[in-house]
Amino acid sequence: MSLLELHQVSKTYGAGPSEVHAVADIDLEVDRGSLIAIMGPSGSGKSTLLTISGSLEEPTSGEVLIDGDSLQKMSRNDKARLRRRTIGYVFQEFNLLAGLTALENVSLPLELDGVSAKKARLAGIAVLEDLGLADRATRYPDQLSGGERQRVAIARAVIGGRHLLLADEPSGALDQANGEAVMRMLLSACKKGVAAVVVTHDAQLASWADRVVFLRDGRIVDQTVPPPSAESLVQNVPQP
Ligand code: ADP
Ligand code: MG
Repeated sequence: MSLLELHQVSKTYGAGPSEVHAVADIDLEVDRGSLIAIMGPSGSGKSTLLTISGSLEEPTSGEVLIDGDSLQKMSRNDKARLRRRTIGYVFQEFNLLAGLTALENVSLPLELDGVSAKKARLAGIAVLEDLGLADRATRYPDQLSGGERQRVAIARAVIGGRHLLLADEPSGALDQANGEAVMRMLLSACKKGVAAVVVTHDAQLASWADRVVFLRDGRIVDQTVPPPSAESLVQNVPQP
């Protein structure tokens, strides 16, 4: 069973002449341990696909299953619990709270879920350490570089052992080195059993994924298993 399943998911905004089919007839399955990259031009429905998968928005039709449970059949409370415990969302603009330190930002989801402040703090420190940010724990977002803010946003998304990681262009504002660091973090989360979906414009970064899904006008036009990396091709060349 896949952790995330979309069956014939469509989302229409507006009505009549202003009607927009943001996504249409999407079928997608994401297994535990796998990283899926989504690519497509601006306006092709990438963010809509992600917000529907994260239960932040309802589809007009179709079904979304997380860990086998249909979102449509869940109460608002069930969905809120799912967003607190199972789904980690990395927003395009990071959305860190300016008045909280890196550690406070990261441990906030656990505190909101009723975990004691002390336990939440310890878990926050552990995640920041994992992401190489232990020495930035007491800094505020405006005292961090773009790459560091992005890592804090990822730490906040993975804390508490969430199983589904959804990231909307997390490398958008980053240079190549930081973009690769973000992909490495997502991959290492996947190695621990997380299912991840990442929207990216960068074909190089997308090639790190297990599968690349291309969207055009709200529809999946191609799903590609990436070719072996340049490195592995070089390694396979017989030595003279
Ligand atoms: P992407 O992330 O690929 O740029 P989006 O998912 O944001 O694309 O948008 C897909 C389409 O749906 C676009 O045409 C966009 O204008 C439209 N759309 C997205 N959100 C809304 C909304 N809240 N109301 C109306 N139209 C929207
Ligand atoms: Mg978008």
